[in-house]
Amino acid sequence: MQEKGTISIHTENIFPIIKKFLYSDNEIFLRELVSNAVDATQKIKRLATLGQYTGELGDTTVEVSFDKDKKTITISDRGLGMTAEEIKKYINQIAFSGATEFVEKFKDAKDANEIIGKFGLGFYSAFMVAHTVEINSLSYQEGSEPAKWTCDGSTSFEISEGNRTERGTDIILHINEESEEFLDKWKLQGILDKYCKFLPVTIKFGTKSESVEDGVDEEGKKKWKSVEVDNIINTTSPIWTKSPSDLKDEDYLSFYKELYPMSEDPLFWIHLNVDYPFNLTGVLYFPKVKNDFDFQKNKIKLYSRQVFITDEVKDIVPEFLMLLHGVIDSPDIPLNVSRSFLQADGNVKKINNYITKKVADKLSELYKKDRKVYEEKWNDIGLFVKYGMISEEKFAEKGKDFVLLKNTKGEFYTLPEYKEKVQGIQTDKNEQTIYLYATDVNKQDGFIQSANKKDYDVLVMDSPIDSHFIQHLEGKEEKTQLKRVDADVAEKLIQKDDAFANLLSEEQSTKVKEIFEKAIDNKSYSVEIEGLNPEELPVTVTMDEFMRRMKDMAATGGGMGFYGSLPDNYKVAINGNHSVIDKILKAESEEEQTKLAKQSFDLALLAQGLLTGKDLTEFVKRSVNMI
Ligand code: ADP
Ligand code: MG
Repeated sequence: MQEKGTISIHTENIFPIIKKFLYSDNEIFLRELVSNAVDATQKIKRLATLGQYTGELGDTTVEVSFDKDKKTITISDRGLGMTAEEIKKYINQIAFSGATEFVEKFKDAKDANEIIGKFGLGFYSAFMVAHTVEINSLSYQEGSEPAKWTCDGSTSFEISEGNRTERGTDIILHINEESEEFLDKWKLQGILDKYCKFLPVTIKFGTKSESVEDGVDEEGKKKWKSVEVDNIINTTSPIWTKSPSDLKDEDYLSFYKELYPMSEDPLFWIHLNVDYPFNLTGVLYFPKVKNDFDFQKNKIKLYSRQVFITDEVKDIVPEFLMLLHGVIDSPDIPLNVSRSFLQADGNVKKINNYITKKVADKLSELYKKDRKVYEEKWNDIGLFVKYGMISEEKFAEKGKDFVLLKNTKGEFYTLPEYKEKVQGIQTDKNEQTIYLYATDVNKQDGFIQSANKKDYDVLVMDSPIDSHFIQHLEGKEEKTQLKRVDADVAEKLIQKDDAFANLLSEEQSTKVKEIFEKAIDNKSYSVEIEGLNPEELPVTVTMDEFMRRMKDMAATGGGMGFYGSLPDNYKVAINGNHSVIDKILKAESEEEQTKLAKQSFDLALLAQGLLTGKDLTEFVKRSVNMI
């Protein structure tokens, strides 16, 4: 039996095109060929289970090997094999009815994943690295003859009698000159580790040496010897393929360690498992996030039937969950088409929603199960939750039940709880409830204390995401406003009708203003005289809430760049009702007035942490003199 023929495609020069397009990603030839070997092995196993194959299955390990001298790489399987007829059918008449379309459509493609597979090109990816490919196969079917197929990358092939004596297939690649880098143990090991680590059929790549015990020596010490054992690439049943009820915490933790050897233990995880309306399994882990900018994206690995595809899961996983770690496996994600297609795909949108929902459910469950434990984890998960609520409407809807607010006393409240707590006392004359917050509890301590003195509660909002989260909260919570605790004097943060009247006359007020403007002598500070509680400080320095917030957002990339470029502007509130102000007015000389005004202004700066350097030294000197 010998036959020559032409591969039935419309475009003569398909191989050069494949080669050119796919060059950057050419290592995936191994993924494709090993996957085919695995498919063939699973098929024979299924036939055996169905009773359609009654022979011995034997050792079904798939073997990858290479020969540096002959410049070949071989992938051997003991799968169902192919007859000559089948080779012609499956390999030659590849799904190239659309070859012309293919060439047209992907002329400008940059990414191999965009084309491989979609046009049934899996097997042909071999030609990215080989000038000639041989298939040596023996079908499982009774009475089959071994068949050998050779193709040199042109559109002609040769089929002849083969020499395989065992069921299965060898794919032999004669590596081309530009691809000789693949004729290397570590190179191949690396590619197999990347793509084949969790394939469902055992994959062997040569041997490796291992130390084993070898009796004891004369002194009774253990002896060791080195032996060669099979170098097995993969774990055939990774945990995401198992049922959650069969798994313990240790299993999840050790799988995590296997995926990310350098990482700390995760906080918790979610086992994904759905088969309708799409098929998806996986395990997502919540990592420990040390600080807001510490998280790394692209840590989720995407698999399709246990074959590694990519770690770029953008579009499939919602943006805010890109900080999660773990594995997603779905045969229903159209991996082989371009990004824009991916976004438009109905399944992808559904998968995205499903993952969002699962994560929200898990958080809700953790919250309900043990509030205390949940609160302890809040420092780590707060970021996810807030980020999620800001960026995903659906998640925000669910998140409002388990997002927590923390106050300066370290107490946690849900949104409804907090509203209930502060609504009475922190509602102003316009029926707006004012939530107060601090971004730095140390620096703003004076203001926090003033607020607490009035029985106001102060939240801690000290993470960069908080400036955005505050904005979100104001949009969602009815009749609610957030103000940083130092946005104004405590008296004025929440304006009620029972404000103190300014006891100074208009003339006196003008005079006080003059004295302070002279003492401060800086245009960035605008002086205002107010009627405040005589118990409060005589002078307070604040920054307008709106201005400050815009500046904060500019600093964390919230698109408020313009505000970031403005100089800081402060308001100096003089408490007209304080005895010190009275004292300043009554001081004997103008010089004395300026000194006292300067002193009380510096005290206000000091309380805000704004007094530094030379000004601070001068203040200390002046204070000493005054004692
Ligand atoms: P796909 O795997 O998507 O079907 P491929 O181009 O990778 O496309 O393979 C084409 C066909 O060739 C397979 O569907 C299968 O029928 C056959 N084939 C490829 N490799 C093997 C193998 N090792 N054993 C048996 N059949 C194979
Ligand atoms: Mg394939």
